Amino acid sequence: MHLNPYGADAVDLAASLANHRPTDAADLAERCRTAGLLLEHPVLDGDLVKVLAVLDAWEGVVDAPDEAIRAARLNAMLAASTAHPRLTDHGGDGWHLHYREEGTAVGLMLSALIATGTALHLVGRGMHRLGRCAVAECRTAFADTSRTGRQRYCSQRCANRDAVRRHRQRTGAS
Ligand SMILES: [Zn+2]
Ligand SMILES: [Zn+2]
Repeated sequence: MHLNPYGADAVDLAASLANHRPTDAADLAERCRTAGLLLEHPVLDGDLVKVLAVLDAWEGVVDAPDEAIRAARLNAMLAASTAHPRLTDHGGDGWHLHYREEGTAVGLMLSALIATGTALHLVGRGMHRLGRCAVAECRTAFADTSRTGRQRYCSQRCANRDAVRRHRQRTGAS
């Protein structure tokens, strides 16, 4: 199975890894497998270092103050990680596009996947569709794949929590 960078898989994986940083190489490998990502190489410490730096850059894309800066930051990520697109059926389960050289290490492969998946998400669904939870003490990063494109919270739990708080503020209850 492969992540579909045109779908939400890659950008959701980026958000998950950014919000809950992998603690070591084995943890990163497990998180990739859980996400359904086919790993062609063992995950090494160097891959973890690479991915953590990429996640810092990705959070910079999330926190960009406007669309032009968001695009420029993501273009820098694309330039640093991607190669020309190519067709592959390396998993034997269907032809798909890679945006990397054949045989790249896991760190660079994830860099290309995160950058490409985020770029396709933004141009396909809308440049504003990356954000952080509106609950001040949460601030979890998310990719907005909602139908309306007006997601404000990381989860229904945070939406409910904020609704309760706003209700209490209006009614003066504590
Ligand atoms: Zn593949
Ligand atoms: Zn939240």
